[in-house]
Formats: sequence, structure tokens, C-alpha cells
Amino acid sequence: MVKIILADKAGFCFGVKRAMSIAEETARNSYGKFVYTYGPLIHNPQAISQLKSIGVNPISNLDNVEPGKLIVRSHGLPPQIIDTAQKKGFEIIDATCPFVRRAQDLARMLLKEGYEVVVIGEADHPEVIGIAGYADGKAVIIEKEADIAKITKKKKIGIVTQTTQSMEAFKDLVAKILEIGKEIHIFNTICGATQERQTATLKLAENADIMLIIGSKNSANTTHLAQLSKKTGKPTYHIETAREINPDWLKGRNVIGISAGASTPRSVIEDVISHLEYMKAHASDPAGSRLLYKEEVFND
Ligand code: SF4
Repeated sequence: MVKIILADKAGFCFGVKRAMSIAEETARNSYGKFVYTYGPLIHNPQAISQLKSIGVNPISNLDNVEPGKLIVRSHGLPPQIIDTAQKKGFEIIDATCPFVRRAQDLARMLLKEGYEVVVIGEADHPEVIGIAGYADGKAVIIEKEADIAKITKKKKIGIVTQTTQSMEAFKDLVAKILEIGKEIHIFNTICGATQERQTATLKLAENADIMLIIGSKNSANTTHLAQLSKKTGKPTYHIETAREINPDWLKGRNVIGISAGASTPRSVIEDVISHLEYMKAHASDPAGSRLLYKEEVFND
């Protein structure tokens, strides 16, 4: 009997659901007006296509477009960009996730209190760029151990982290910073949804023969889930859609574990599950004709 098991926390998180619903509501209430998001609202191409179909278009700069409503994505934006947009006549609709907002507020507070602000995360990730913006662009971004050398003021160090950071990497880097700092103020700003998805993925990987992690290749939290799953030693494949599944991966596997990042729509997860069922039902090898069933649990 082959099982397909979905992690008990997978797919859209609270912040993404909220941002999508703000964008949909804005589109409904903006007849005759342009509606934009600054960058993709969330890191998922299928969700972005759906938003485009209702008139919500991503832009990457404020020039050369007619002012309209500008939705601040769940990852947030540096305040400097928001100020510029307002001066150019854009109406700001803020869909920043409250957990990201907390990291931004803490970065601003730490700067005000005289700490050297450290943001642990990916330097080129929009959320990290946004958080650093709340420290007036003075934050030191630490992505890997070698970056710690960039911390110059060691007397007072204030640390926040990208909300989708893996706990393991956060703890490792904080431990290294502790070796050089005098006074260190640490805020764990990894969000609950990220932690829940990481825990659920690890738990599922223990019992699965193969793991499929669904989500955009540029989604930080999905990539971290795939990295964590790989570290367990289980064969792990990060896919964006069902089309990427290679039937060879499934040969001889009896338990197929599925997890998905916080920006992966439910429809994409369901499509992968249906596709797996179809593939197995139509496989020519004897294993392929065995009955499949799934345990689907979709949660916030
Ligand atoms: S992953 Fe966490 S911080 Fe990011 S949007 Fe979702 S709830 Fe908010």
C-alpha cells in the first residue's frame, strides 16, 4: 500500500492569506484605478498570475507608471520607498505581515537605542531589505559566518532575523556573534508559521521514503524546508508544480511525504496530489497499480 501524506502544516500561512485577501479586496474596490504591488505580492508565480487576472500587477519601480493604489507585499518594503511612492501620488495599501512588521519595528527600536542592528537573513531578500530600511539602511546583514566580521560596533549589538529563517541557522549564527559582543539584545523574529512548517516537515520526513517540497524556487521558506528535509538524508525534491515530478523518483517508494512553503496555494498542492495519484494509477509496473490514498490536512 502506497501512502501519500501531506505535512499537517503546509501551504498558505496567515500572513499570505491576509495579503491575498487585501489584494483581492483592493482589486474589487478600485474600478477605473490602477492597482499595483511593489514586487510580487508573494513568492509564487501561480498566485501572481491569478492576481494579474483581476488587475493587480507587480511593478519593480515607481517610474513610468500612472500612480494608483500600491499594495505593500507581505514581506514589507523599506520606509524610504513608501515615502517616495506617497510623494508621487500613490495610495498605499499595507499588506505587510504583522510578524514582518514586528521585525521592522524592533530594528527601528534597536537603532534608536544605540545598538548596531544585525539582521540575520538573505541579503538580497525583499523582507531583509525592508527590515534593514527600518534601521535607516545601517543594519549589518548576516547571511553566513564570514559576514560576522562586518560587525564593527561590538559594545551593543541588537539582533533580529528574517521571519522565514531556519531555527538551526539562526542559533548557529547567534552563537558565533555571542563570542564577539559585549551587550547583545536578541529578538527571535522567526514567525510561528515558519517554525510549524519546519517541524511538520521534519516529522514527516522521518517516516517518508521520499519528500516532495512544493513552492516557488525563489521562496525562502520553501527553500529552507527543502534544505531541512535533505539534511534528514531522505531523497528530497523541491518542485514548483506537478509537471516537474519525475516518475523515476517514485519507483519503489511506499510513503511519499509532501510539504509546501507558506506561499504555496492550496490548488497547487492539490494538483500535485492528484497528479501523483494519476501517475501511480497509470504506472505500468506492478507497484504502480497499487491503491493510493492520501491524508490531507490543510491548516492555517
Ligand atoms: S511566513 Fe510568517 S512572516 Fe511570512 S507572511 Fe507567513 S506568517 Fe507572515
